[in-house]
Amino acid sequence: MTGSRREDQGDLAAGDFSSWVIGMQGAIRGEHGAEVPCDGCTACCTSSQFIHIGPDETDALSHIPAELVFPAPRLPRGHVVLGYDERGHCPMLIDGRCSIYEHRPRTCRTYDCRIFPATAVEVDDGRKAQIARQARRWSFALPTQADRDRQHAVRAAVRFLGRRKTVESDGGAALSPPQLAVRAIEIHDAFLGSGEKADRAPLVAHQRRR
Ligand code: SF4
Repeated sequence: MTGSRREDQGDLAAGDFSSWVIGMQGAIRGEHGAEVPCDGCTACCTSSQFIHIGPDETDALSHIPAELVFPAPRLPRGHVVLGYDERGHCPMLIDGRCSIYEHRPRTCRTYDCRIFPATAVEVDDGRKAQIARQARRWSFALPTQADRDRQHAVRAAVRFLGRRKTVESDGGAALSPPQLAVRAIEIHDAFLGSGEKADRAPLVAHQRRR
């Protein structure tokens, strides 16, 4: 998530699939932020998203007015979420730029809308149409067999998770599309070697969080 705005036209180079997905696994593990060439896109800051902030994120919390955060549902005490205004905009987005960019929450640092084209998971929330548009613009390069194998493995992981429908670690709740995409990327190594057949199987409809 980042700064100012630009037109959403044309294809965007998402990079080689293997490099991206391995880097994304590191970002999910919290080893580093996601390096997204947003180029001024603010779709994820203007799409009615609740931003989770953990109790350890003291820097971010010290830069966000206390009245803008509230306890995160179903998470232990200390976890909060930053809401959005009546337009669906993050209140920290001022004049089209993140006003706390150097201090933004971990959720923002690790958000990467390339998870959707990488997994072929659709953004099916009408309030996130801007993210869906931006996500459709990305195009991954698959120059090597390793890139193609990784892509097949990610798609196989999506199908596996779709069949399970719920995840015990989330209290048995159904996965939202972003959660499904992130978890598929997390676990896809287990599906390396599953081959291209996994790609041709019908995609199991992902489940919405109730
Ligand atoms: S904190 Fe900054 S980067 Fe995060 S959603 Fe708000 S404006 Fe965007």
